[in-house]
Amino acid sequence: EPIGRDGSAPFAARAREIPAVLGADLEVPVRGGRLVRYANLDYAASAPCLEPVNAAVAAALPAYSSVHRGAGYASQLTTARYEQARHTVKAFVGSRPDDALIFTRNTTDAMNLLARCLPEDTTVVVFDSEHHASLLPWPRAVRLAPPAFPGEAIRAADEALAAVEGPALLVVTAASNVTGELWPIAGLAHVAHRHGARIAVDAAQLVPHRRLNLTALDLDYVAFSGHKLYAPFGAGALVGRRDWLAEAEPYLRGGGAVTAVGDEAEWSDDPEARQEAGTPNVLGAVALAAACDALTATGWTPLVREEERLLARLRAGLASIQGVRELSLWGPDHPRVGIVSFTVEGRTAREVAEFLSSEHGIGVRDGKFCAHPFVRHLLGTADGGCADGTASAVRASIGVGSTEEHVDRLIEALRDLAAG
Ligand code: PLP
Repeated sequence: EPIGRDGSAPFAARAREIPAVLGADLEVPVRGGRLVRYANLDYAASAPCLEPVNAAVAAALPAYSSVHRGAGYASQLTTARYEQARHTVKAFVGSRPDDALIFTRNTTDAMNLLARCLPEDTTVVVFDSEHHASLLPWPRAVRLAPPAFPGEAIRAADEALAAVEGPALLVVTAASNVTGELWPIAGLAHVAHRHGARIAVDAAQLVPHRRLNLTALDLDYVAFSGHKLYAPFGAGALVGRRDWLAEAEPYLRGGGAVTAVGDEAEWSDDPEARQEAGTPNVLGAVALAAACDALTATGWTPLVREEERLLARLRAGLASIQGVRELSLWGPDHPRVGIVSFTVEGRTAREVAEFLSSEHGIGVRDGKFCAHPFVRHLLGTADGGCADGTASAVRASIGVGSTEEHVDRLIEALRDLAAG
């Protein structure tokens, strides 16, 4: 049963407590060899693992064997765990009953898989503000400039799709990995469908922060990564309509994707088999599903409330420091998830990030966040300043396990840096 439209979690007990993350008491060395408690403000790169995810993987480890092939108990158990994980993750994103879910390595893999499944002559339309994972798999895509306001995104997509003859796919992020800003994906889905096109949504930065209901939003495909969703590395998903996935050449050729092999291979019509040749990452799928279960069981209301409280504190702190400028495409009031990128006047992003780490034990990301055209656009630079690192930003990002203390330490450290 998909996640209820009222935000309830019909398939999981309501746990009410925000789960703990691993590594919360990690201590790291700073200059002079002193140890300080690590302040992880880099969730948008990879989020720490939730305790219940750790427990689920530990429970699955003692007995595993091949999926979909063996009659032995361990094999049956592993197959059941893997297919249960598929069911759970599908439900987590509110998929339609007949959608397929292909377990992939990550979002990049999911988008590249989709690129390989497009019907011939499909025109892809994509905004330049995308992460490279969603920008680069379609080298001949029609690329649209980052829109000046959300309505402009819809207008630009409308115009671009109206000019396409034949099949079309609009690719767009749900939440920016640079600014955290939420994109109008329901409106974009509506426009795409009006032109007979499909929409694929990069939900890598949305699903750790907000409930996503693919059915309610009428999205054709969504892609995301487990390692940003409080599970370890190595598992992601592409969820969506079966037909393109079932008709395309298998992404990988090998066992599991075929029903019979003589001189020729007979490829499975079931997209989940056809596009998942080889032994899958069962523990990765189990971990991803456990993260989905844990978030759903907690409920989005407390998760979002806590994140918004900390995000407001973070942004107010940044705004209070002279010389610190937050990057934003659609202005400070546009809704966003717990991701903030900023620059510090007179300092390169690398200097700032290194100072925060080596002096204060604070982990942030610096650079262009695999979104070069977008960061260049936001900074108003044409060449990217790759050589001297000036056209880069610092990104602080939060999630489950973030605390006021983490936020306050960042703000105090930046205040010192800006003053000095
Ligand atoms: N899309 C967005 C919005 C991201 O933030 C990221 C990761 O930074 C990706 C895609 C790529 O994710 P992965 O490296 O897990 O494939």
